[in-house]
Amino acid sequence: MLKVHGLIKKYGDTEVVRGIDLHVRRGECFGLLGPNGAGKTTTLRLLLGLIEPDAGTIELAGIAVPQHAREARMKVGVVPQMDNLDPDFSVRENLLAYGRYFGMDKAAVAARVPALLEFAGLASKADAQIAQLSGGMKRRLTLARALVHDPDILFLDEPTTGLDPQARHLIWQGLRRLINAGKTIVLTTHFMDEAERLVDRLAILDHGRVMTEGAPRALIESHIEPAVVEVYGEGLEDWTRLHASQVCQRFESVGETLFCYTDDADRVIDALKQAPALRYVHRPSSLEDVFLKLTGRDLRD
Ligand code: ADP
Repeated sequence: MLKVHGLIKKYGDTEVVRGIDLHVRRGECFGLLGPNGAGKTTTLRLLLGLIEPDAGTIELAGIAVPQHAREARMKVGVVPQMDNLDPDFSVRENLLAYGRYFGMDKAAVAARVPALLEFAGLASKADAQIAQLSGGMKRRLTLARALVHDPDILFLDEPTTGLDPQARHLIWQGLRRLINAGKTIVLTTHFMDEAERLVDRLAILDHGRVMTEGAPRALIESHIEPAVVEVYGEGLEDWTRLHASQVCQRFESVGETLFCYTDDADRVIDALKQAPALRYVHRPSSLEDVFLKLTGRDLRD
């Protein structure tokens, strides 16, 4: 559904996308992860043909972009980062107006509206004004709106940013339904739990490059020791100096916490018995650990 080769985009003298290759298969849910400024949004805009690359090729649903971007966009649904629903229209009218934007006739859109409202959990809100909706409802409506022309592939830019946990779970359920129905999905996120939960494969981007790519489990297994013991509390510095390099395969001190990466957590926990004032959390390593290892812990603005 998506083939990208050697994609480059410059702003002035700065290359913000520096030779990206991507392949997304039909029916796959693919994640683009990266810290702020990594180039995720620029990449999405290139894929949709909204901006022109300086080099590289893009094929979206079999159509060359940006050469035939308009034609390609007919096969694509987009959920932007900021909701851009029309505040002057009701929920139903937003869906109808968007369908006409894709050249669908009024009856064809109207026939799809009940199913879209049901999908968004907004059947009882069909005639509500946009200002009456919660943040989660607006996001669900934006997602339903992106489906109005029954696209083959859906692009979502940070679909759950700014939502509370309940609203996030509802969006995830909706996306699961779409994945189970065979839609292809490309999403950007910086929520690792979202990526681990939803995507089949993902690419971690930084400084305009793909740092690594693969299934979440495979990335965890190939980049990180299997377990993490996070240690904090009184006496941490002394314990770190005396024990960390012996019992951790790799460790990092971050603020008041020691992250001890290991394939033998029992050994670490045994060594911690000598310092009863220290507290710890023992957990399996996660995608977030991979992300932080590859992109660092420095704050990005
Ligand atoms: P992300 O979505 O991963 O946060 P972006 O794609 O928005 O990253 O930005 C990547 C880099 O490109 C950033 O350094 C950003 O400042 C720069 N950038 C993005 N859009 C423009 C633009 N229109 N003009 C100049 N620089 C831009």
